[in-house]
Amino acid sequence: MPIESRNPYTGRVEQQFEAFSWPQTEQILGEAHTAFATWRTTSFEHRAQLMHRAADLLRERADELARLMAIEMGKPLADGRAEANKCALCCDFYADRAEEFLADKPIETEAQRSFIAYEPLGAVLAVMPWNFPFWQVVRFAAPALMAGNVGLLKHASNVPQCALALEKIFHDAGFPPATFRTLLIGSDLVEKLIADDRIVAITLTGSEPAGAAVAAAAGHQIKKTVLELGGSDAFIVLADADLELAAATAAKARMINSGQSCIAAKRFIVEQPILKEFITKLKTHLQALQGGDPLAEGTDYGPLARADLADELTEQVEDSVKQGAKVELAGGQPEPGSARFTPIILSQVQPGQRAYEEEFFGPVAIVLEARDADDAIRLANDSRFGLGGSVWTRDAKRGEQLARRVEAGAVFVNSLVKSAPEMPFGGIKKSGYGRELSHLGIREFVNQKSIWIA
Ligand code: NDP
Repeated sequence: MPIESRNPYTGRVEQQFEAFSWPQTEQILGEAHTAFATWRTTSFEHRAQLMHRAADLLRERADELARLMAIEMGKPLADGRAEANKCALCCDFYADRAEEFLADKPIETEAQRSFIAYEPLGAVLAVMPWNFPFWQVVRFAAPALMAGNVGLLKHASNVPQCALALEKIFHDAGFPPATFRTLLIGSDLVEKLIADDRIVAITLTGSEPAGAAVAAAAGHQIKKTVLELGGSDAFIVLADADLELAAATAAKARMINSGQSCIAAKRFIVEQPILKEFITKLKTHLQALQGGDPLAEGTDYGPLARADLADELTEQVEDSVKQGAKVELAGGQPEPGSARFTPIILSQVQPGQRAYEEEFFGPVAIVLEARDADDAIRLANDSRFGLGGSVWTRDAKRGEQLARRVEAGAVFVNSLVKSAPEMPFGGIKKSGYGRELSHLGIREFVNQKSIWIA
């Protein structure tokens, strides 16, 4: 894939970049490796000062960053600004809490003193996707840098300007340049990088095939990975739910980032007595949303990030309909090769149909009918994925009990699934492994060292 900014709404190429050669890439890696030796010795106080400054810059530049997201991957301006501000929160969070999360942890043993020390590892490679081009990276970079690691970013090939803008933010905040670098490279150089001894660990957010390729290469080199892959989150609506609130939130949860979010609600599992009413309400809420130019204020949702992603989604929908799914709300691409895509609702979705088996990474709501709560849980868990999920009921206690039975890394009761710096984020099954954010996220890429003093 060429490294270029192509506005998905207009189809126009805004800027092209020449990919770094291997010698260029290797030189940057060498500089990062050298920088680590010093960076690891800096105090938490010093790192926190710089990280707070990065947070300030994210807030100050929110408009500019939102514009870059709009032209590179189609995110509406208001959502882009919100993403920049959320990144700032994450930087502040780790600036304030990293020292506490990585403080020596005393353990009682027969030794005079024994404890766990958390030490940085070195250069961590981050292979990142385009859907939240700042947030996905910051939730890796903020804890990594605060822990004393250095970061190398291989961003998705369609968001190079976002990648460079983030690098500039860290540099302008005062981080030594070699502690965080953007590598403008295609995925072809990733395996070679992983094989280099100076890369100590890899984190990837993206598709299953990309995750499998990177984890295989890392496994071959005995290097740790954290994988945050796809999801097909269940949104379970029980008969006693506040149906209006559930349907309004369902539309929002499905349409996050034009449906291109790993934690967007994708499968709406609804108890039979309220199924028809739920579909009617969901339809109303989806139809009320304004699709359009992400650069125009007031646009609720933009195009998909690339035309090929829209073509693939159309194929998934068409195959599902051929396999028996019913179209409750008609939408989709205006024509093949366009990145624009209006919402669709599919019902009568059964095992064997693509809509039942696969992740739909775009504005397609898949509605499944459940006989009762047990059946809803069975359907929710009948998925290869296990990232997030939500349960809607007026009985919070019952909601909690059911939440425990959903096979996923996170379950929300009466709320849409979202990530927050304080809470761990990650999946099970084919959604990946490892955790980002919270105290768990910062401990993924450190040496958890046992120290025993007899
Ligand atoms: P990819 O998984 O292909 O891209 C994500 C990142 O991985 C990019 O930086 C990409 O680089 C890189 N990459 C891809 N293949 C390899 C490889 N073999 N070795 C090393 N790095 C690799 O996502 P797509 O853009 O193709 O999107 C396809 C699907 O992926 C979506 O429909 C969705 O299902 C899933 N996805 C999930 C996301 C999530 O948040 N979990 C985010 C984005 C996508 P490059 O861009 O240069 O190819």
